[in-house]
Amino acid sequence: MSAVSDEWCPLCGCALDREQDWCLHCGAAARTRLAATPHWRAPIVTLAIVIVTSLGILIAALVKLIG
Ligand SMILES: [Zn+2]
Repeated sequence: MSAVSDEWCPLCGCALDREQDWCLHCGAAARTRLAATPHWRAPIVTLAIVIVTSLGILIAALVKLIG
């Protein structure tokens, strides 16, 4: 009977125990996902700023053209 696990290695997909910090199969850090989770916001915020700035310039150019 195999132990039930809700965590898997992010690299090889091997099942991990809760106490395991490293994958016994490939040696990858099993907690990398938790540490990496907050970092997805930075590129999205940067992208949003670039889009808003581009739209502002576009609208300003249109207003200048029409008016
Ligand atoms: Zn692994």
